[in-house]
Amino acid sequence: MTLFDFFDAAELPVPAVTPARAREIAATHFGMEADVDPLGSQQDANFLLRGPSGEPVGVLKIANPAFSRAELEAQDGAAAFIAAGEDIRTAVNVAPDAADSGIADVNGFLARIIRYLPGGTLSGERYLRPAQVAALGDLAGRTCRALASFDHPGVDRVLQWDLRHARRTVEVLAVHISDPHRRQAVEAAATAAWQVIDGLACDLPVQVIHGDITGDNVVCADTDGVPDGLIDFGDLMRSWTVAELAVTVATLLRHEGSEPAATLPAIEAFHAVRPLSPAEVAALWPLVVLRAAVLVVSGIHQSAIDADNAYAASALDLEWRIFERANEVPLDVMTAQISDALGLADTAPVVTGEARLIAGLDPSAVARLDLSVDSDAMDGGVWLEPGCEDRLAREALAAGAVVVVTTFGQARLTRSATLSSTSPATVATGVQLWPATTVTVTAPWPGTLGSTGPDVLTLTGAVATLELHGAVQSVAASGANREIAAGAALAGIDGPVWIQVRRNDTDAPRFVRPEYAAGWLHRVSDPGVLLGLTQLPVHGVHAARDSVALRQRRSRSFAGVQEHYYQHPPRIERGWREHLIGTDGRSYLDMVNNVAVLGHGRPELADAVARQWRRLNTNSRFNYGSVVALSERLAATLPDPLDTVFLVNSGSEADDLALRLAMATTGRHDVVAVAEAYHGWTYATDAISTSIADNPNALETRPPWVHTVPSPNAYRGEHRGTEASRYAPEAVAIIEGLAAQGHPPAAFICEPFYGNAGGMALPDGYLRAVYAAVRAAGGLAIADEVQVGYGRTGRWFWAFEQQGVVPDIVCVAKAMGNGQPLGAVITTKAIADAYRSCGYFFSSAGGSPVSCVVGLTVLDIIERDALQRNALSVGDHLKARITALAEHYPLIGTVHGSGLYMGVELVRDRATLEPAAAETAAICERLRELGVIVQPTGDRQNVLKMKPPMCITAESADFFVDVLERVLRTGY
Ligand code: PMP
Repeated sequence: MTLFDFFDAAELPVPAVTPARAREIAATHFGMEADVDPLGSQQDANFLLRGPSGEPVGVLKIANPAFSRAELEAQDGAAAFIAAGEDIRTAVNVAPDAADSGIADVNGFLARIIRYLPGGTLSGERYLRPAQVAALGDLAGRTCRALASFDHPGVDRVLQWDLRHARRTVEVLAVHISDPHRRQAVEAAATAAWQVIDGLACDLPVQVIHGDITGDNVVCADTDGVPDGLIDFGDLMRSWTVAELAVTVATLLRHEGSEPAATLPAIEAFHAVRPLSPAEVAALWPLVVLRAAVLVVSGIHQSAIDADNAYAASALDLEWRIFERANEVPLDVMTAQISDALGLADTAPVVTGEARLIAGLDPSAVARLDLSVDSDAMDGGVWLEPGCEDRLAREALAAGAVVVVTTFGQARLTRSATLSSTSPATVATGVQLWPATTVTVTAPWPGTLGSTGPDVLTLTGAVATLELHGAVQSVAASGANREIAAGAALAGIDGPVWIQVRRNDTDAPRFVRPEYAAGWLHRVSDPGVLLGLTQLPVHGVHAARDSVALRQRRSRSFAGVQEHYYQHPPRIERGWREHLIGTDGRSYLDMVNNVAVLGHGRPELADAVARQWRRLNTNSRFNYGSVVALSERLAATLPDPLDTVFLVNSGSEADDLALRLAMATTGRHDVVAVAEAYHGWTYATDAISTSIADNPNALETRPPWVHTVPSPNAYRGEHRGTEASRYAPEAVAIIEGLAAQGHPPAAFICEPFYGNAGGMALPDGYLRAVYAAVRAAGGLAIADEVQVGYGRTGRWFWAFEQQGVVPDIVCVAKAMGNGQPLGAVITTKAIADAYRSCGYFFSSAGGSPVSCVVGLTVLDIIERDALQRNALSVGDHLKARITALAEHYPLIGTVHGSGLYMGVELVRDRATLEPAAAETAAICERLRELGVIVQPTGDRQNVLKMKPPMCITAESADFFVDVLERVLRTGY
């Protein structure tokens, strides 16, 4: 028996078999009458067999004559073995019990039919979600687990895909790379990777592996794209177990947005099934690089010898992409990063010195400059000012510090950027130091002096190199390569210097991205220790892990029914205008915080509140000016006769009070609300809320006094488009019916612009007709402006103005306090007075001096910054751009809304309007990865709700649309 040996084999063009011949083979050798469709393959000829009604019934594989029967038997055996041992669907031979193990000899070609596995593959380059990435790693792990006890004489073949031969494969095939730079890059990368592997090879376990678990060779039964099946066992071989994972990891790099760190979920998932030994961890990334090199050289070689093989040619670009991405991060950095992710990292010892870096410096005279997200010095958007680090340092010097230093391993907000789809390099691999006067730096260890450029001084000792870069005057006489002793004077510094301590033979950028910080920090040590400072914990380096730990703590003490956004929410500890910032310094564009109408972190508001807190905070039974001023200001925004104000603390309270006012005024109890609405969590407001997104049982659990009218949804409701004018008479009929049955309503309540349904305008004339009907029945009209009021719709300050009506009671909250608990009910004197029949109205904090100052300041800033006008101009721009996107992406069914209250409704089919809820959720997750925070809304959870802070700029709106377009184009 001769098994295949790549290095001895002749060239391997695909067997030339026509579809007609394939059809004949299936019929004569396997008794299968079928239609055939050719499938792509690098080395075999494959045909999909279809039954009478076009359904796939199997795959005819005609093996390249270079492969022996034993090899094919091994492949079929392994497929069956995995399916029996693990819950993995595999492409098994459909007639293994037939003569010759189901492998027919067709004029020297070996043919067989294997099972067709339904479900799509993950071929191509579209984005893969972390859950899909993890599933691929898990599949690779379980395959290895199953195959660990499998053996067969047909596995000891010599394939170019066996990474044990990677160096040789690259050596032999690299000659086919015509571009000398690229060829050199591939050879250099392979040599460096092989050097690492060489030292580890004898510690790497060997077994039978599938050898090609890639997006092309997995199938997904469910529409969620999580793979559960394995096909194409053509590369089955004995090799290193860890090579199975390396192959999978490498293939992930071809997908949209993938980078080395994005493959970690696959590595973690593999490790959870089949734990990696330290040697395997150390070998993994070098093997990924080798696999990438083998892919490139093999792809080029194959397209050279088989010019007609379109499959091989089209794969080449992606193979280069894999190679480039695999080499984006140095091997040791990636290995340290992987070890960190797997919880296997050993802490590198801190580099200490024999002498202090600045002799006689009292550590207590050193001011630590905190530039993290948590630093108070960052308030007011200071971090976006150029040169702010230097300014803050000089302020600390002016305040008496002898020396100012930054913190090693800290994610600096000052290095962050807004509107970025990738995380910025925020984590410092050294420190910056500012001296008050000229100080002398001494050598912490004996070593050799050097310089890599002007203003750069290095001292290389036995274990580490110290680098000083900046205002450095060398005093240790000139000349590189001079040896100096520990404690000898090195340099005078009279201005800011960057100090880095690198373990020998390494280098590191000054700032690295948080995803790779654990890896890079392995190469460096804290220079602060050389100044006698205690080492502070790294900050923002393990942001994802910290965020999980915080969520676990949260779930122990904070009631779970108070849900959180996202499966893996970042930890957000700062906001500025329309930006939210994670603890790693990553900035996200906030498209959902309608409450923070002015934007986040407004110092004017904080100052006004702090001033009032210091002066007085009490309750509205006392006589002070701000409660009057705020009431006057609110009343002035409304038409007559709405002139009387109640101040409360939330939207729920405002709506609840409005209902009580209506009940007190009319002496009735029944209320009419609009279906799918949300009005709050109090007993009464919850009763009138029928949004199943907020309460899945809402419709079944309504008390008898609550009546609903259909949601007047002109897009997907019963009456669409111009037919939507029929909602009003329908609602009127319901109200009249109630009156006729002896249950005339106390009130009709609705959002005058339908926020909870995704920001939909009500049909023209709707409120005019319904308000008239409820009033005719002796009830009141309540406008819930909690979400849509206060200028958000751009065209109107109050959304009811769009309908040309005046309600009897208006409820407002959210925007009114910019996030501080504040709400109001504004009504007529007569209705307000009717409350007396229920006693007094008192809310301890409602209308307090602090609350009123918040309310007044918010109104001031809305006016001063013309935020309503901004809502109109940016909102219109946003709507126009998203509407334009809809021309290219049929998923966008429509764009609802006005100003900065918009809803992008996503549908699977524009005719049936099938809601694309899973897609909406996935898009939100992907948008977050790319730096945008947006959430689904509506009963079908298929509307992207867009209600950003009203200070959002057109530039930010453009960023949102650009990122959304990218996600729609490249996958989610
Ligand atoms: N009414 C509407 C229309 C709302 O959207 C909300 C809150 N989402 C409320 C009332 C309740 O407001 P709060 O959360 O301030 O109690």
